[in-house]
Amino acid sequence: MTWQEVEKYLESRKAIIIPVGSIEQHSLALPLGTDSYIAEKIALEIGSRTFTIVVPCIKFGLSMVPHMAFTGTVTLRPETLQKLIEDTVRSLYLHGFRQFLMVNAHGLNEASIICAFQNLCFELPGVSYYSVAWWDIKKVQSLRTVYFSSSGHATSEEVSMMLYLYEKMVKKEHFSKHHPPYNYFTSLEKTRSYTSTGVINGDQGEADKELGRQLFNEAVQGYIQMLNDLISGGG
Ligand SMILES: [Zn+2]
Repeated sequence: MTWQEVEKYLESRKAIIIPVGSIEQHSLALPLGTDSYIAEKIALEIGSRTFTIVVPCIKFGLSMVPHMAFTGTVTLRPETLQKLIEDTVRSLYLHGFRQFLMVNAHGLNEASIICAFQNLCFELPGVSYYSVAWWDIKKVQSLRTVYFSSSGHATSEEVSMMLYLYEKMVKKEHFSKHHPPYNYFTSLEKTRSYTSTGVINGDQGEADKELGRQLFNEAVQGYIQMLNDLISGGG
């Protein structure tokens, strides 16, 4: 879009969508950019169904423990991500945006997003936001409970999503099983003795492309509801 198109948009609408992902290990089967690819796709779909502007995805997230134990992971410090979000929102607010929908595809990011908006709500009158990780949306949770025996990092629901969105990037021959829960992963040094692949809390064997389509659509629907609530002031 040009600046003039954004200015025109602001005459009738003050809402905007900000996807946040990560560049971190996602097992031997999924690419490092998995979270960013998913966040961006969901955000763009919400945007196209609701005629809402989508900010380019914030692709780096909080990925220190345990993900930095695996090569290629890039992590921001919590305060860096927080400031990046704050400055992005401050800029957009100055132009007239007021409602911010955060589409988050990486659990650890939530801490920085919340801290950012706690600050922003102090200084920016009239700002409102909603932030949730896609897998925490109610109907997505229901699907996960029905179809997946466990749920963790790079496990079946994320793999299903990637099978639906970017099947060619998924290395099915590298699916792996039986990985210990999150509470094993308290230090960087020990991480690889608990998981050699990077999968945490579960496995990848229940992944399914059709389920990925359902997860994607329920996530998009859930976010659209939140966006509408934000705009109507009823969220
Ligand atoms: Zn992920």
